[in-house]
Amino acid sequence: MKKKMEKAFNKQVNAELYSSYLYLSMESYFQSVSLTGFAKWMRGQVQEEMFHGIKIYDYVHERGGRAHFEAIQKPEAEWKSPLVAFEHILAHEQKVTQLINDLIDTALEVRDHAAKAFLDWFIIEQVEEEATVGEIVDRLRLIGDDSSGLFHLDSELAKRVFAMPVK
Ligand code: MG
Repeated sequence: MKKKMEKAFNKQVNAELYSSYLYLSMESYFQSVSLTGFAKWMRGQVQEEMFHGIKIYDYVHERGGRAHFEAIQKPEAEWKSPLVAFEHILAHEQKVTQLINDLIDTALEVRDHAAKAFLDWFIIEQVEEEATVGEIVDRLRLIGDDSSGLFHLDSELAKRVFAMPVK
């Protein structure tokens, strides 16, 4: 694998681990306001983002590259409401989508078509991610100040079970 590609992949490993860290911080926020269903849903995000990071890390090694780690940015710790937290997630995931697009641009630039094929999985994943989070944002907007609506959504989100995807 070309050094430029390896460097870009390593940067993405860092971004995915930061996502995991951010969602763990949000999980703690939801625990602190007793929204345990939201917290459980967030745990799924934490594991999923960790999986994304490891998936890229494994790919770098599969292609004969090496991991190079940088410090992981400190995540925010407080949000004004569940809606504000989910708007933050949506904006964050849109940024991640842009990072994946940039990675594909790099893959095409260095004519690494294998890397491009590997990254296609992430493109599909991001579409799903943005759709899921966008739907929760919409529902939180509808709920507004209705606490019974919020608790209903909380118990629905509690049902999330994270299954480690098969490679
Ligand atoms: Mg991710």
